[in-house]
Amino acid sequence: MESDAETAGVPRQVLLEATRRVLDEARRAILSSGPLPEASGLEPGTLARQVAREVEGAMRISLRKVINATGVVLHTNIGRSPLPASAMCALERTCGGYCNLEYRLDDGVRGTRQEHLEPLLCALTGAGGAMVVNNNAAAVLLVLRALARGREVIVSRGQLIEIGGSFRLPDIMQESGATLVEVGTTNRTRISDYRNAIGPDTALIMKIHQSNFRIVGYSEDVSLRELVKLGKEHFIPVVEDLGSGSLVDLSPSGLTGEHTARQSLDGGADLVTFSGDKLLGGPQAGLIVGSREYVDAVGKHPLARALRVGKMTVAALEATLREYLYPEGAREAVPALRMLFEPEESVRRRARRLKRRIDRAGAANISCRVINEASRAGGGSLPTAEIPTCCLAVTHSGLSAPDLEKRLRGSDPAVLPRVKDDTVLLDLRTVSDDEVAVLAGIIASID
Ligand SMILES: *Cc1c(COP(=O)(O)O)cnc(C)c1O
Repeated sequence: MESDAETAGVPRQVLLEATRRVLDEARRAILSSGPLPEASGLEPGTLARQVAREVEGAMRISLRKVINATGVVLHTNIGRSPLPASAMCALERTCGGYCNLEYRLDDGVRGTRQEHLEPLLCALTGAGGAMVVNNNAAAVLLVLRALARGREVIVSRGQLIEIGGSFRLPDIMQESGATLVEVGTTNRTRISDYRNAIGPDTALIMKIHQSNFRIVGYSEDVSLRELVKLGKEHFIPVVEDLGSGSLVDLSPSGLTGEHTARQSLDGGADLVTFSGDKLLGGPQAGLIVGSREYVDAVGKHPLARALRVGKMTVAALEATLREYLYPEGAREAVPALRMLFEPEESVRRRARRLKRRIDRAGAANISCRVINEASRAGGGSLPTAEIPTCCLAVTHSGLSAPDLEKRLRGSDPAVLPRVKDDTVLLDLRTVSDDEVAVLAGIIASID
């Protein structure tokens, strides 16, 4: 083959597969286009180059670093929250070798993986018990299966949400074997609607955070306290799916509308579920906190074993939760919180720094200016909140905005900008200080 140099050291299996794919494609082309004209692109040299390209694709690491210049802090498609440095250290410390995942070093007996997390979660939320599963969808599924299978769960029609990536509450409910009893209408649900729906088969009353949308205008919703009061009258537990579930009050930064897991429990919820990688800013996980009795019932269910977390999650989550023992410190140490809380002025300084670096690089085709814009929390949190930010609006004399976006996406590391009104914007809120130099280099080198 002509491109020997490019395929030297490539595993035989990869080379074989790539060659097969290229030859199959060539055969299909011949079959569909009949007799071949001269120079049809099927001569050996061309085929070899195609194989080399296929091999390059196959040998390239698939999960790669991305610079998030979208301004969406919790962007599900690019991994939601970046982990705190302490979580990275914990992974390094414990996951390359063995760790006491299910072993009590003091007594030399078997332990549980939940023991590393439960005391922290109880301390941080005021819960009597806590457990962690693979993600929040799993947490909701497990709670429903363990507490409501074959029975009824009352939910307001205004809370029957779908979240990106096909988490549809009615579907999860069906999978769990519980029967959904919808009450009220999309925009108005009253406590009497819940009361009228209670029957002998009612297992749970469930309140679900509306997550990525808001009903505004003529609407009415029943507070958690009212639901808890009703539940107590009928001995029916109340479960709240918070979705984002912050551990700190975000309102000082002007982000209102999310309450903390502790607030839900103080409000009387028997169980609360939320994600580890949304506003908490840790690894993907589903956290279940609440009364000892219900957490035990959920933890004992056989499905809990199928949804359990691995040691990497335990390591990263324990470290992340420990940051919250010092709430002020957590705002700095947890990247998602740091980004949400960073003042606009500070983002502006980073935008100016990026502009200076690009200008200094003297890229003739590029021009950029710092503009005021709005970032978003993302991850289904705070859907209507606009966080004042600063962006670098970048234009290229020879490329349209979509073409420039494509070039940035194809760079290494990939850069994801936001494209608005046919302009490429780099939102510096979600770009770290460390990434500015690399980002400047990538932009300045686009010819
Ligand atoms: C995000 C979300 C979920 C799903 O959580 P994952 O951790 O992504 O599985 C469930 N419920 C609500 C209200 C959410 O916002």
